[in-house]
Amino acid sequence: MVKESKLYDLLGVSPNATDAELKSAYRKGALRHHPDKNAHSPEAAEKFKEISHAYEVLQDAQKRQIYDQYGEEGLEQGGAGGGMAAEDLFAQFFGGGGGGPFGGMFGGGMREQGPKKARTIHHVHKVSLEDIYRGKVSKLALQKSVICPACDGRGGKDGAVKTCSGCNGAGMKTMMRQMGPMIQRFQTVCPDCQGEGEIIRDKDRCKRCSGKKTIIERKVLHVHVDKGVKSGHKIDFRGEGDQMPNVLAGDVQFEIEQKPHPRFQRKDDDLFYHAEIDLLTALAGGEVNVEHLDDRWLTIKMEPGEVISPGEIKMIRGQGMPSMRHHDFGNLYIQFDVKFPPEMFNTPDKIQMLDQILPPRRETEQPPPDAMVDDFSLENVDQSGQRRAQGATHMEEDEEDGVPQGAERMQCASQ
Ligand SMILES: [Zn+2]
Ligand SMILES: [Zn+2]
Repeated sequence: MVKESKLYDLLGVSPNATDAELKSAYRKGALRHHPDKNAHSPEAAEKFKEISHAYEVLQDAQKRQIYDQYGEEGLEQGGAGGGMAAEDLFAQFFGGGGGGPFGGMFGGGMREQGPKKARTIHHVHKVSLEDIYRGKVSKLALQKSVICPACDGRGGKDGAVKTCSGCNGAGMKTMMRQMGPMIQRFQTVCPDCQGEGEIIRDKDRCKRCSGKKTIIERKVLHVHVDKGVKSGHKIDFRGEGDQMPNVLAGDVQFEIEQKPHPRFQRKDDDLFYHAEIDLLTALAGGEVNVEHLDDRWLTIKMEPGEVISPGEIKMIRGQGMPSMRHHDFGNLYIQFDVKFPPEMFNTPDKIQMLDQILPPRRETEQPPPDAMVDDFSLENVDQSGQRRAQGATHMEEDEEDGVPQGAERMQCASQ
């Protein structure tokens, strides 16, 4: 008869459970409540910790015996409290390394534990919009360390590599120093082997790698740029990174970055295009030709009488980017800039014709009959921002009186 059964209950097993039953119960519970699978759920995080604690105690025959006899209280008194962190236990249980049971789906986190691994080589792969539209395979070369094939990563001939006797292969050495009445102990890099932990006589060193155990090799990787891929998409090559002795080979990760395009802007699967049309086309129809991303030209016809206002946006269905997920295409949005004819193109007879063709002028608001009325005509604004020298000097002075920049300044200048 056990004193209490809380830890068994957490795992959902009976106090008579065998080791195998405990193990299987922990496996199920830990996978279900792991924080990586339950983002932003404090309940799951707490449950994960409790399950881990329960399993840590019960899988240890001695701790289990203490618990069965004296309960949690007994564990605390026996100094068995403060066990392993839940994540560590999890990593140990599932073997850690390359992403653990979730196959790397949940990103980092667990990678810190488990076998050592060489660093990941990151590379941003810039791709044109044309290439993303069509899809392509980029061949990218990288320089990486590989285990020296001449010495199989030993650094020298068979038997030539000796464990350093100065540090027993640790690479670090504890030294002692007399400081007055005290002896100070400190750690230092082993001077015999320079921290390598082993010694190779110069004449026995591998000629190929000079005893460094690795050589630099050029490797070409084929990176698949899928149709419609988006900036930020990552492509992993597991184990294609640096190799080092006694360490798992590192990964290579490419991140796709889409280069800006001179004609199109992209938003998700849609494309945006600015087309400039003249006033006649806007009012009376015509056509616009757009060079697409795959050497095709789209001829866009505007029916006579289909009036297009400046800034108006129209859509062509299915002429956007290929969509990665839906196997179809986004849309092409075209915003029209209407180029008006230059000033004074109208002669009086043409103006008369316009008067007859276009809708009449809108009624403007009239001043009240007793109002003072002055007549004005418009002046052109100098777009370059450079004004006549006299005016400019004038404005410098005005500026000190807190006159704001821009149009109002110009009024001051002409006073
Ligand atoms: Zn070598
Ligand atoms: Zn040494």
